[in-house]
Amino acid sequence: MGQDGILQPIGNRLALGHDVSRTFSLPLLAAFYPFLSASIPAKKGLSMTKDEILLAQKEFLFPAVFNYFKDPLVVSHAKDQYVFDIDGNQYLDFFGGIVTVSVGHCNDQINAKVHAQIDKLEHVSTVFVNEPQVALAQKLAQITPQQALRKSFFTNSGTEANETAILAARCYTGSTEIIALRHAYHGRSAGTMSLTGQSTWKLGPPQAGVVHAVNAYCYRCPFGLEYPSCEVKCAQDIEQVIRTTTSGRVAGFIAEPIQGVGGFITPPKEYFKIVTDIVRKYGGIFIADEVQTAWGRTGSKWFGIEHWDVVPDIITSAKGLGNGMPIGVTIARPEIADAMKGVTISTFGGNPVVTTAAKAVIDYIEEQNLLRNTEETGAYLRGRLIDLKDKYQLIGDVRGMGLLQALELVEDRRTKVPATAATLRMMEAARENRIMIGRGGLYGNVIRLSPPMNIGRADVDEFIERLDASFAKVEAAMLAGSQRT
Ligand code: PMP
Repeated sequence: MGQDGILQPIGNRLALGHDVSRTFSLPLLAAFYPFLSASIPAKKGLSMTKDEILLAQKEFLFPAVFNYFKDPLVVSHAKDQYVFDIDGNQYLDFFGGIVTVSVGHCNDQINAKVHAQIDKLEHVSTVFVNEPQVALAQKLAQITPQQALRKSFFTNSGTEANETAILAARCYTGSTEIIALRHAYHGRSAGTMSLTGQSTWKLGPPQAGVVHAVNAYCYRCPFGLEYPSCEVKCAQDIEQVIRTTTSGRVAGFIAEPIQGVGGFITPPKEYFKIVTDIVRKYGGIFIADEVQTAWGRTGSKWFGIEHWDVVPDIITSAKGLGNGMPIGVTIARPEIADAMKGVTISTFGGNPVVTTAAKAVIDYIEEQNLLRNTEETGAYLRGRLIDLKDKYQLIGDVRGMGLLQALELVEDRRTKVPATAATLRMMEAARENRIMIGRGGLYGNVIRLSPPMNIGRADVDEFIERLDASFAKVEAAMLAGSQRT
């Protein structure tokens, strides 16, 4: 399995110990890789053909670098809400490079500022002061909830942002123990894999000092209860977790406001207030991992956690902040940032080109009033998805906020058996219908949608039409299959 979908097994690796772009026999290769078509000329400035790219990928990358689809989609270029493959097909992108292309591919306004900066100052490292990094940090301090989180530390990824947050929590509290949630995803370092709550993503030995509480997964309540009569038992249970599985003094609680890789699992409105009060009572701080939910994605607010009326102590983010440029950020209350005594450095963190891009993204979101767009267009998308749920039994749950919406697919609405195979078929059908969607969830049965935040209703209509056609195809195939057996 892959992080955001299924791993397509690599099978027998070819021992091409030479330049694949010049010498290989297509018929021979086609025997190994039936999806390879006749060699297709390079597109848009690419110097390799599709087949050469696919072969080089298999030969020279770790097989852990998984791809969607049996016949992997080789991307050539992209613009705004559209992605083009090397065969010249155009896709309407409703996944945004895994919740990352926040304001459209190769956005002209952002890229003009990036081009200007790259010609002016490309790198200097944080041991020399530079304006783009400081300007971004200042802007972030203005938009955090109640302007309470005022100091930033920049890195290159969400993983590093979370590592920094955990370190800061431990320095500030003097405690080491962290509470994380089941079904969470927090990164790929040893520490953040330990925080992660899905076996697929825990590759190495776990680090000590992390316990996992049950998450607020109302569709599959871990206590078998119904909201609201459950009185949000999953939140109340955190007190028992602290008292029975920790020393009773914790460094903090880390959670995604909406669990992203987990399948856009969205807690009820009381959840974070209850949990935060408990965690603070036992000396801990609250870290909101907003790698997927920040920057207006959830509609009307800059940060997802604002929908729960809680001010966290640290926010971490990455992905959408750079619209594709690699950036991670840990934003903390000043006293927590100040508690990280000593010195630390991230060579590329705060890079002037990347921070220029990030500041440009925030300015663009403001200028284009995208917080309103994610709320309004998100509500429209949600309505159209609910209509599809009425039409297709396969859809068990529609959830999310703003332009972060998911469909959980089940074989039977009563038993809720995860429809993992059907979800894979949906991925292929969606590709045939030229839309890009994501996959997630512990069982790989959740379709994740996170289009660029500047799309409009016409894009939603086009997308729904194609998604509808994809569901129709999958349901028809399933029906034909069940009639045969
Ligand atoms: N936290 C969350 C919520 C994420 O979704 C991810 C990435 N999927 C990460 C952390 C890790 O980010 P990165 O891949 O940039 O290290």
